[in-house]
Amino acid sequence: MTTEIVPVNEDYFKNKVFELGKIIREGGLVSFPTETVYGLGANALDAEAAIKTYAAKGRPSDNPLIVHVADKEEVSRYVKKVTPLEEKLMKAFWPGPLTIVFPKKDIIPKETSGGLDTIAIRCPANEATRALIRAAGVPISGPSANISTRPSPTTAKDVYHDMNGRIEAIIDDGPCRIGVESTVIGIENGEIVIYRPGGITLEMLSAFAPARVDSALATGSAHPKAPGMKYRHYAPSAPLTVYTGDRIEVAKEILSFARKKDKTYGFFVSSEIAEKLEPGLPVFVWGSRDSQESFAHNLFSGLLYFNQHPVDQIIGEGTDTKGLGLAIMNRLTKASGYHIVVEKKERN
Ligand code: AMP
Ligand code: MG
Repeated sequence: MTTEIVPVNEDYFKNKVFELGKIIREGGLVSFPTETVYGLGANALDAEAAIKTYAAKGRPSDNPLIVHVADKEEVSRYVKKVTPLEEKLMKAFWPGPLTIVFPKKDIIPKETSGGLDTIAIRCPANEATRALIRAAGVPISGPSANISTRPSPTTAKDVYHDMNGRIEAIIDDGPCRIGVESTVIGIENGEIVIYRPGGITLEMLSAFAPARVDSALATGSAHPKAPGMKYRHYAPSAPLTVYTGDRIEVAKEILSFARKKDKTYGFFVSSEIAEKLEPGLPVFVWGSRDSQESFAHNLFSGLLYFNQHPVDQIIGEGTDTKGLGLAIMNRLTKASGYHIVVEKKERN
């Protein structure tokens, strides 16, 4: 199979989107852009298409897919019940990076829901993708369009690298604005529980109801509410260790690796640390410490950068877990295989 790259332009909205919608409706796979990462789209009502999705990604089939709709009015076709709180959250955050877990109707096959009786649904902000869902006439399941265990793709080129020859087409709408995946939540006894931190923060959700993070995430338990959280994820091409905590100590520690000659170190750091590194070292700058948005935006392209610029070990600089930082540190914890070093302020 050759994988076609389709740009988003006038012709896309007039013609191409209907061709791609038909491919999806008839069981094919098309990668679509969103504000978070690129998705691997398939007909969410078609069990065979879900099986193809798992095969293309090499993903374990007990890790459910998120279903994308073009409009919140569509949700009641696929779920048994929508509560007033869920209604309010959809109104506030859709289209946008919030995924809500609902009890599913039988129209959604078990293959799409990873065997669960629930289904995770979101409405993406990207216009080209909402047009695709409408043209397909079916909801579109979409995990991230990467080979399982690798960093999520935030450009069409990243998708092409992993999916060329495995899927029919990739819709190219440039780099994803946010850069980390959606926040996955469920409502439990009137409380908002975050199963996967993402683009919509705990602080933003707390304005609507009491909100907390699934305790299995903090403890690394084997039974998180989002089954995907237990799998290896986002792994870069070299081992990664992330330093976080007291800024002065973090800088000292990271700069000490720049002087070591035992192996080749790559640096995945803020501009504030990068400017202290001597020129010529392999460095990817995730942005300024003042902007978690830029960190999230560059996170996955930074991890993928070291595929093209091979090193023996990646030294990363983390951030605090406020706001978007919770999602960023969740991804870095997984990308590093839990190699996170928290630096404390030195006392003398
Ligand atoms: P991805 O498809 O790569 O964006 O990952 C989707 C995430 O949502 C994974 O962590 C899934 O385990 C999680 N998820 C999807 N459906 C459900 C569900 N019904 N209940 C809980 N978590 C879900
Ligand atoms: Mg993924």
